[in-house]
Amino acid sequence: MNYEKEWDVIIVGAGPAGNMAAQEFAKRGMKALVIDRKQQIGPPKRCGEGLSIRWVKIGKLKPNPRWALQEITGATLVAPNGEKVYIDTGSTGQTGYIIERSQWEKMEAEKAIRSGAKYMLKALVTGLVMEGKAVKGVKVSREGKEEEYYAKLVVACDGVDSMVGRYAGLRTAMPLGECDSGYQYEMANVPIENPNYMELYFGTNVAPRGYVWVFPKGKDVANVGIGISGDSAETAKDCLDAWIEANHERFKDASITEINAGVIPVTKPVGEFVGDGIMLVGDAARMVNPIHGGGMGSALEAAQMAAEVGTAAIKKGDTSKKELMAYQKMWQEKRGGEFKKILHVRHFVEKLNDEQFNIVADLVKKGELKPEMLVDLGHGKGLAELIKALVKASPSITKFALSFLKG
Ligand SMILES: Cc1cc2nc3c(=O)[nH]c(=O)nc-3n(C[C@H](O)[C@H](O)[C@H](O)COP(=O)(O)OP(=O)(O)OC[C@H]3O[C@@H](n4cnc5c(N)ncnc54)[C@H](O)[C@@H]3O)c2cc1C
Repeated sequence: MNYEKEWDVIIVGAGPAGNMAAQEFAKRGMKALVIDRKQQIGPPKRCGEGLSIRWVKIGKLKPNPRWALQEITGATLVAPNGEKVYIDTGSTGQTGYIIERSQWEKMEAEKAIRSGAKYMLKALVTGLVMEGKAVKGVKVSREGKEEEYYAKLVVACDGVDSMVGRYAGLRTAMPLGECDSGYQYEMANVPIENPNYMELYFGTNVAPRGYVWVFPKGKDVANVGIGISGDSAETAKDCLDAWIEANHERFKDASITEINAGVIPVTKPVGEFVGDGIMLVGDAARMVNPIHGGGMGSALEAAQMAAEVGTAAIKKGDTSKKELMAYQKMWQEKRGGEFKKILHVRHFVEKLNDEQFNIVADLVKKGELKPEMLVDLGHGKGLAELIKALVKASPSITKFALSFLKG
């Protein structure tokens, strides 16, 4: 397939960020090219496939049975001592879906193409065309040839290991402890208590600084995965295998249909996610909820913002860093504060030991903490309430807990 050389915008990556960016730029009349190294949009997924209704609305997505597989109306949290806490999120409208991500991504790309965007697949971006410090295009390795394509703006939606950001000189590297290592099996014939409920399992023997999830994709199909600190001595795979083995009775008749692994940036966004002629969006800029690692929704929102600012800059004929900074500012104002609070909550929660986790579950069971408060933590809210209840129930926690109230 032949492609024109000159574009208004080149988007690297056809994941959630890239497909939304393509739709939004194309809708605004921009000549947009999306480049992905995969030969097919979608697989392999690196994802538990949980998407909350909040992001469905922000992304203006119309749930389609082809990808919105299982409606979620609650969560079962399992404390280290096995105590279960049931949270009915549906009653407060906080629903969501476990999606078939590969299908969804393809359908989002189809939407972008209908809006005018073009896609180039099986094409690896290996570098950037630079003029001084300004990005002017991309170098692509495709069908055994090295090619160059030029654009007024390059949008890096190339995920957590964003090389494009690095090629542009942006500081995207992060310490191992600031990311989670994820591993997952999609499995069939898994006994599921309630397909409308996500299950989350906590404990140092289960997942160091993380959790095991069972996200139902139907009556007996589920993503069974784990996220643990990237600097753990154990591997995520070993921890997940050990957990499945420890739950042998449940999984003895189940088997895997897919294996997925990946890194999840659960930290602050990249310090500067724009440069001359370049913007970073989604995982490439580390725009992930730092407590649970969900990043599809925030990638959609950031892509919308990038397209708004990027289109205006292209139309003005000025895609300098100074002009594109409006995107970084917009994201910081809308989402930056919330994500900072969520990171603070994560830093507190990861300091709790198993006994303290058990106390939290017990407080919820006794009605001394509202179960919804645990959901609020994922939005960066409710930390003070949690700390006060914990200090009352377990005075040994006082010193370190109270220090978090100041943060
Ligand atoms: C195990 C695991 C479980 C997760 N579970 C969830 C979950 O349940 N819910 C949720 O919301 N999020 C989850 N996430 C996070 C979520 O997957 C990411 O936040 C999301 O994919 C970010 O989208 P993106 O478009 O920024 O990047 P990506 O989806 O990573 O897309 C990047 C694209 O860029 C392409 N690309 C990369 N480099 C190049 C290159 N040089 N040239 C050409 N193409 C390139 C890749 O092929 C890819 O298609 C999970 C992550 C992991 C690892």
